Amino acid sequence: MPEIHICEVGPRDGLQNAKHLMPTEAKKAWIRALADAGLREIEVGSFVPPKLIPAMADTCEIVQAAVKIKGLKVVALAPNLKGFQRAIEAGAHKVTFPVSASRAHSLANVRMTPEEMVEEVRKCARHPHPGVAIEGAVSTAFGCTMQGVVPDDDVVRIAAALAEFCDGVALADTVGYANPAQVKRLFGRVKEKIGEKLEGAHFHNTRGLGLANALAAYEEGVRHFDSSMGGLGGCPFAPGASGNVITEDLVFMFEAMGLSTGIDLEHLFAAREILAKGIPEEPIYGHTPLAGLPKGFGAHA
Ligand SMILES: [Zn+2]
Repeated sequence: MPEIHICEVGPRDGLQNAKHLMPTEAKKAWIRALADAGLREIEVGSFVPPKLIPAMADTCEIVQAAVKIKGLKVVALAPNLKGFQRAIEAGAHKVTFPVSASRAHSLANVRMTPEEMVEEVRKCARHPHPGVAIEGAVSTAFGCTMQGVVPDDDVVRIAAALAEFCDGVALADTVGYANPAQVKRLFGRVKEKIGEKLEGAHFHNTRGLGLANALAAYEEGVRHFDSSMGGLGGCPFAPGASGNVITEDLVFMFEAMGLSTGIDLEHLFAAREILAKGIPEEPIYGHTPLAGLPKGFGAHA
């Protein structure tokens, strides 16, 4: 088993924020290439109304294709019971529910307070879902473009509520406000409260701190990370900034430290070419693919 577990969220988080649409067949080819590179978990889409996010309109078809890939855990996002039911029907192995810790962000996005959204997820957890894991992701956990500061106490409270009925809980820096000191403090506090239920870290690279934050979370005991190939999707609030923490650089960091990810970097670069071909208009980022691997680099994969 790899020491570090990486979930590729580019097909969901990246494409959802991209300015251009990626054709369904290109998505399927990219997901296959990601799995070939050794990614064992991929968030492939979101069961939101297609009118709201046209880039996710083909999520059902994408899930159905992805579950045919041997050994791949297929994750989808759902905002409510209807989305959850669609995810289960399509065959997703795991469903992530975002719950914003920012009141302002939650009201604007889902017209519910964070507490009401927690109850929505509780309702989903009560709905029969044999073999499907549920993750509660506390989004805007490190700050919010609408509200500014998000109090740690709010994050701890929401994470604790989600831990009552979710299989795992993640903390997400949705808008790229986090810094490493804050990451250590908040992951430490939430872990104290919910222990092993705290699983994942989801960082954005908006201000270039994605890797630093991932390392800080690692030092707090986190072993599950979300990232996106090429930092796909950018940031609507920061022109020129990449989206999620970049998979290629995250894998390189951990492998260079001697920590296995199970991912082969050369194959990952090949998957990046398939991504670039599938959505050629969209900028993609990343230092490691541009610089290449250092001479004598001994990957653990
Ligand atoms: Zn995100």
